[in-house]
Amino acid sequence: MNIDKILEYQTIDMKVYRIEREFAKSPEVQKAVALQNKKKAITASLLKLDKEAETLFADLEKAEAQIKEAAAAQDKAHFSMGSIADLNAADNVEKALNGYLEAFGNLEKEIKRIFKRLSDIKNEARKLLEQGNAANNDYKASLADYERKSQEIKQSMQGQIARLSELRKEIDEAIFRRYKLCRDNKKMPAFVPYDAPNCTACGMNISPEVGDKLKNSGDVAECPSCRRIVYLK
Ligand SMILES: [Zn+2]
Repeated sequence: MNIDKILEYQTIDMKVYRIEREFAKSPEVQKAVALQNKKKAITASLLKLDKEAETLFADLEKAEAQIKEAAAAQDKAHFSMGSIADLNAADNVEKALNGYLEAFGNLEKEIKRIFKRLSDIKNEARKLLEQGNAANNDYKASLADYERKSQEIKQSMQGQIARLSELRKEIDEAIFRRYKLCRDNKKMPAFVPYDAPNCTACGMNISPEVGDKLKNSGDVAECPSCRRIVYLK
């Protein structure tokens, strides 16, 4: 197989690749990424608060239902007091009423707790929203810097990029796909010479797996160890 074109492509693309890697480490990109992460963290915190508020509202509904239940039971107890036949029964009614009062007290505490937490959540959410808006504005500003830097780099690589798109038309689709896969996985260079019995990228002895496939100049095989494409010079 003729792999001259893909190798030429790779030589130029390596320069582009290195510049891209440097760009990824540049303060412009780092700042934008950090702000993006900050935005994500704030959103996650807000969602967590939202979920907690949802649980609190459910607790509140539950407490309301319990109050209604206790009130109904209390009414019934009052009603039956009018027909108390003996002291024993009166004692039981008093016990029951005390029980209801205690239940009301507990429910009141529970409801106070829920309202207190809901009010805290409201404040926390307001603060988070403010932080989120600030982070969003900073992020937008950082994107402008990012875009400017990216355009600068693209301009500086114009010649290489034009040559790459020309070469691309002459490269077999399957070969290019393999190249692209390595590049996407940051395995560059993707095509490396086979120096029997070793892959020149990872240094592993790969002759048992690929030796048979690499007979003539231009033959290619995948390195079973680093997954790059080894070729015979
Ligand atoms: Zn390898």
